[in-house]
Amino acid sequence: MSIIVENVTKIYGKQKALDNVSFSVQKGEILGFLGPNGAGKSTMMKIITGYIPPTSGMVKVNGFNIYDHPLEIKKQIGYLAEQNPLYYEMYVKEFLEFIGKLYGISNIPQRVKEMIEICGLEIEQNKKIKALSKGYKQRVGLAQALIHNPSVLILDEPTSGLDPNQLEEIRQLIKTLGKDKTVMLSTHIMQEVEAVCNKVVIIHRGKIVASDSIENIKQVSTSHRVVVEFSIPLKKQHFAKIRCQKLESISDTKWLIESQQEDISKELMQIAIENNCSILSLTKSELKLEEIFKALTQTI
Ligand code: ADP
Ligand code: MG
Repeated sequence: MSIIVENVTKIYGKQKALDNVSFSVQKGEILGFLGPNGAGKSTMMKIITGYIPPTSGMVKVNGFNIYDHPLEIKKQIGYLAEQNPLYYEMYVKEFLEFIGKLYGISNIPQRVKEMIEICGLEIEQNKKIKALSKGYKQRVGLAQALIHNPSVLILDEPTSGLDPNQLEEIRQLIKTLGKDKTVMLSTHIMQEVEAVCNKVVIIHRGKIVASDSIENIKQVSTSHRVVVEFSIPLKKQHFAKIRCQKLESISDTKWLIESQQEDISKELMQIAIENNCSILSLTKSELKLEEIFKALTQTI
């Protein structure tokens, strides 16, 4: 395991920002850490990277624990903080050289050149950071996170505030980088997780409400949904034999059904036979992660 989080609780004054959080990330995984604003995402990331201590609990990164090996952990991790803290008056190259020196990297010019290439900063490399667009600032942030070649990347809302083109570019870059690294990225956008990650941990009010592969989360936490179209108009009572949580008419011939049962096609055939009609179409539709997230984080 690249990252192991065990029973982490963080209390700020009287507020519990994290409540007994446990999860792990395997080498090579891209984990989406998903939750609404104030859920505790940044707090968790600051604890993993060693910037703040937990109130209780344990974190290990590549086998090193945060209490005994804080410096080793900083070497293992590349961190892009939520408020990407760049030195705006510095030039891109100058800034990356400066970060390279902080990490004690050998052959800094060569490494900076590589970072500029990997992060697509060629055109902007001689500009001052303050002159860059938000998307390019994020690229500089990624370059500083990667310069010491860490095996683990922790990215706190890496795409927030980007326009759709920049967003797509940064997502692609993260996916490419993720091929030989372990990545944990936080976001409050469901589509982001679907687009980039292969595993998701959903956090709400400091507690984990779901943790699994994206496919499993969809399967476990949701029912199966089909849209069926009959050749004649039907009424709700015709569906009485089907056990379902939701039955909605899209038109009088077209119905949306959500059921725990994986396959209800036999039951639908039965309805068609009983009513002397046929099924014109039957399509399965998956629930969007967004709907799952809403269901899991609904406050009662
Ligand atoms: P997220 O990143 O998911 O938006 P945060 O981890 O930033 O959430 O915050 C979780 C909760 O902890 C929020 O309610 C926030 O107000 C609170 N919090 C965060 N940092 C501090 C702090 N330094 N002092 C007091 N409360 C804080
Ligand atoms: Mg945050």
